[in-house]
Amino acid sequence: MKFVIVSKGDERSKTIKGTMKQYLTDFGLDYDEKYPDLVISVGGDGTFLEAFHRYIHCLKSTAFIGVHTGHLGFYADWVPDQVEKLIIEIAKTPFQIVEYPLLEVIIRSKSGGTEDKFLALNEATIKTAEGSVVFDVEIKGDHFETFRGDGLCVSTPSGSTAYNKALGGGIIHPSLEAIQLTEMASINNRVFRTIGSPLILPKHHTCLLKPLVDRSFLITIDHFTESYTNVKSIQCRVAKEQVRFARFKPFPFWDRVRDSFVTDDDSDSIKRSNS
Ligand code: NAP
Ligand code: MN
Repeated sequence: MKFVIVSKGDERSKTIKGTMKQYLTDFGLDYDEKYPDLVISVGGDGTFLEAFHRYIHCLKSTAFIGVHTGHLGFYADWVPDQVEKLIIEIAKTPFQIVEYPLLEVIIRSKSGGTEDKFLALNEATIKTAEGSVVFDVEIKGDHFETFRGDGLCVSTPSGSTAYNKALGGGIIHPSLEAIQLTEMASINNRVFRTIGSPLILPKHHTCLLKPLVDRSFLITIDHFTESYTNVKSIQCRVAKEQVRFARFKPFPFWDRVRDSFVTDDDSDSIKRSNS
């Protein structure tokens, strides 16, 4: 099996990368930066996003795993203390694969020509540095609303705990193939009206955003930001591609949500049950 390790670059992550690389090659695995079967990210969720985009060309044949060297992450969910156990698991066992949905974004220009296509693991956001954005929002080919405000966020289920959550979006279990549309400060008055609630769209329900006022748009795909002018439309839907995670132990999504946002202290529930 071929593997690669993407590190955040800080001393702790670099040391863990060094140890893992050494042991795994000692176990007979090959280090391959081009076409790895397994991509190990060492750092945080941001590092994992980086690793995902670096190996986006071989999603079909590659599985990902994340070790966190800071706080518990959603993608980086292995603690450094368990690294030795993980190394043995990787070297010995054929691993289980869990697949999560991705978001496909296609940006078309008014001048025609080529379109830009992206895959996002967390989300895409559309904002502007020039006041507010004004879009016609179409869902499945029908006009839904005209949005005016700071911007829109379209997220994947696994990205629902990231930016989407800060915008008041719901947390979606990644076994659901869906995307979520959340508003950033929509203007609601006699002239402009939007739904206000986050919308959750199933597979094949394409969401099309058509700018009504020409602006220079700041479009983010996960941790990347690109500036676009002359935008005709931004199309978002559940991608046909998926991201594959290598699973060596169960760590249910809702446990990760609880441990990240509510509590990771078991004594809390004991206290509650005694009171
Ligand atoms: P960053 O500014 O370091 O990321 C912001 C935080 O989001 C970090 O704590 C990061 O974890 C965490 N995060 C990333 N993916 C997550 C997920 N799926 N679930 C829960 N938390 C997640 O920038 P970055 O590390 O390059 O990450 C880019 C992401 O930041 C974007 O995709 C977007 O989701 C998020 N973001 C959030 C806000 C907001 O909440 N207001 C604003 C802008 C961007 P680590 O510390 O482990 O990296
Ligand atoms: Mn980060």
